[in-house]
Amino acid sequence: MSQPKTSPSIDAAALADRLRTVRERIEAACARANRSPEDITLVGVSKTFPLEASRVAFEHGISDFGENRAGPLSEKATAWPGEYLGGEIRWHMVGHLQRNKAKDIVEHADVFHALDSPRLAKELNKRAGREERVLPCFVQVHISGEESKYGLDPEETHEYLDTLKDFPHLHVIGLMGLASFVDDPEDVRPQFQLLRELRDTYDDSDNPVVKMNALSMGMSNDFEVAIEEGATHLRLGTAIFGPRDY
Ligand SMILES: *Cc1c(COP(=O)(O)O)cnc(C)c1O
Repeated sequence: MSQPKTSPSIDAAALADRLRTVRERIEAACARANRSPEDITLVGVSKTFPLEASRVAFEHGISDFGENRAGPLSEKATAWPGEYLGGEIRWHMVGHLQRNKAKDIVEHADVFHALDSPRLAKELNKRAGREERVLPCFVQVHISGEESKYGLDPEETHEYLDTLKDFPHLHVIGLMGLASFVDDPEDVRPQFQLLRELRDTYDDSDNPVVKMNALSMGMSNDFEVAIEEGATHLRLGTAIFGPRDY
């Protein structure tokens, strides 16, 4: 009996179909916004799915994967290394990080999307220094106006970015935001515009750590609007891997 290539729980054909649809929608949104799909990194948020699901996505051209917890990210990046560990893919930590997990992320992640406090920056810089690496980061901004989400207040963002110039083992490549969950994605367009404006109005001339070209925004329910507003990194879970059972 030959071994199946992927575990039976993963429907590879359905995943390929979803990816085809996502790519068509990305291309259409790019066309509307006069942008090139090549300027957009599709991060497949594989949280709660087995590594096998990411392997299938990789066979269909996805090489960036997102996890929202340090434990599963470390496990997956140990089994299938990202670029930092010598591999050909990239692991993105997209969720809130507690300081006591900073070491795991510095040792396993390629990109961190949720830098949101002075103490976390200090800890990550220290750990990255010990690893003799520079960690590419997004600073997370609280754009939804809701209570429950993480991230810096928009008004504090520039001041926070200024403080990062003392942390040479961090490299801030952009801002990240989570928009509100709404039925009509048009409703969150102003939130994406806010994130873009905060990036565009930051004066980085005196800050070697912060050089922001990127915007990590747009999830399964709102990515087309995010593209129209300048997203460079889409974080798509459900739209690629299907519904999560939690
Ligand atoms: C889960 C998650 C996503 C992906 O969510 P979908 O709605 O499934 O696309 C994106 N970003 C973060 C921070 C997440 O935790």
